[in-house]
Amino acid sequence: MSRYTGPVCKLCRRESQKLFLKGERCLTTKCAMERRNYPPGQHGNSRQRKLSQYALQLREKQKLRRTYGVTERVFRNYFSKATRQEGISGENFLCLLERRLDNVVYRLGFAPSRPAARQLVAHGNIQVNGRKVDIPSFLVKKDMEISVNDQLSNNNFVVEALDHARVRHVPTWLQLDENAAKGKVLALPSRSEISTEVNEQIIVEFYSRMGC
Ligand code: SF4
Repeated sequence: MSRYTGPVCKLCRRESQKLFLKGERCLTTKCAMERRNYPPGQHGNSRQRKLSQYALQLREKQKLRRTYGVTERVFRNYFSKATRQEGISGENFLCLLERRLDNVVYRLGFAPSRPAARQLVAHGNIQVNGRKVDIPSFLVKKDMEISVNDQLSNNNFVVEALDHARVRHVPTWLQLDENAAKGKVLALPSRSEISTEVNEQIIVEFYSRMGC
């Protein structure tokens, strides 16, 4: 399935949770979740039916997938990779998603949202260890240095994003040098350092049920 390019606020309303896909707007009263906190569609505002176990698992899976902005095929590949690793599958799964370069750029505050970070990477504005990397799914490793290229480091877009990112706080597994628009991966993230609000165990159960 191709990437979703429709209105992203609908995704938050569908999942009944803010997914922070629009940067600063998400923190204002203009956020669609503040004004219409019910699923989109003609019957979205009518009384909600009780969700089945399957529906609960599906919604949790969709919520995580939409948060990181990946397609179903890529998402499934991450899951397969996570189950082949040692340790708890759900935590490995989240750790893989968190290590994506577009997510790291967002977490460091170089972009106001994950979709914006994805664009920044895809347009060749991000360097890893001093070399251009334009693949948003690139997985960062310990000790890698992530920086915004010189032409863009003083750009208003990045400066404003860094300003606003102070509110979000950089996670402890990353280190930010704000003046140089540069960050470092201090360690791979553990579950407690990943702030994404999701129950990953439910997603593991969903894919187990699907025979993945
Ligand atoms: Fe979601 Fe942001 Fe839109 Fe609010 S403004 S509904 S958090 S994408």
